[in-house]
Amino acid sequence: MNRLVDKLEKEKILTKAQFVQLINCDETTRKYLAERADKIRIENYGKNIYIRGLIEFSNYCKQDCYYCGIRKSNTECPRYRLSFQDIMACCKEGYDLGFRTFVLQGGEDPYFTDDRLCEIICAIRTNYPDCAITLSLGEKSKESYKRFFDCGADRYLLRHETANKEHFQKLHPQKQTYESRMECLRALKEIGYQVGCGFMVGSPYQTAENLAEDLLFIKELNPQMVGIGPFIPHSQTPFKDFSQGSLDTTLKMLSIIRLMLPKVLLPATTALATIDSKGREKGILAGANVVMPNLSPVSVRKKYQLYDNKVCTGDESAQCRRCLEGRINSIGCKIVTDRGDSKNTTN
Ligand code: SAH
Repeated sequence: MNRLVDKLEKEKILTKAQFVQLINCDETTRKYLAERADKIRIENYGKNIYIRGLIEFSNYCKQDCYYCGIRKSNTECPRYRLSFQDIMACCKEGYDLGFRTFVLQGGEDPYFTDDRLCEIICAIRTNYPDCAITLSLGEKSKESYKRFFDCGADRYLLRHETANKEHFQKLHPQKQTYESRMECLRALKEIGYQVGCGFMVGSPYQTAENLAEDLLFIKELNPQMVGIGPFIPHSQTPFKDFSQGSLDTTLKMLSIIRLMLPKVLLPATTALATIDSKGREKGILAGANVVMPNLSPVSVRKKYQLYDNKVCTGDESAQCRRCLEGRINSIGCKIVTDRGDSKNTTN
């Protein structure tokens, strides 16, 4: 089985059947995968770990994804939105803590019209010319994406969720379509964003074949970033009784992606940290090179609950920053204060 790992490292692609085999590999091969992925990460990015300040600015959402705790139909979810001033205060605090990328993430909240979003993006761009602005606002029209880009947004995260159309429809209501997701990702690329796609590991109804399809899709899209983390059930969603995604499969997927796209930016996600107390460290040692701690005010953090038991919801930004620094240093890596653009520049 280790030969498949060597083949992947050398050729940067496998067939679907080979990917399935690798996804189902045993512990010995998983460790070998992680070893190789760690080495490839170091070759491309050294021991540098990039930090992104996540600002979860609204948990209102008009979409109804079956897995997500802030879905429209969750009437138990206490809703909030940050004001313009709140968001700017998060950026100020983040900048002083060494963040040079701000990620504006939220539900698809109609209150935040394009005009309001542009005002926020322009203000961040003007106040922090040396920072990257990443958006994660879900599905919008190409015109909207273009307006945000022209205001100074650099990057966009939109997980494809699954590259299998039938599977996509099992995770979303009928009016949210696979085609529309794909069209958004295409539009974002065409406009010139650094694009991030991604998926949950162990989402309901997912098979190893589906994961292999995700890998083939990612290879073809060739994004600058790939966000993956385990699915974690949320008790107020239709998927409350499904089990969470596995740590080992998530680590395998991170390693495979690192070998397939050596220069990609790969976060060790909060979901990974939630299912294992050393999740972030394990993610990095399996090939990840980005962490995205929260900059949102502590007063709203518990309300941005995409899944149950999310970690780090009680800490001030400065505490999170210190805690992460310690964790990252403990595995021989270091946090860097720069934009941390992707070296995967061929579009
Ligand atoms: N509304 C925006 C951003 C917020 S959702 C968007 O749709 O892009 C960000 C990501 O969180 C989703 O893409 C999904 O993959 C992940 N997510 C949602 N619910 C989750 C759950 N229960 N467990 C793990 N990840 C989840």
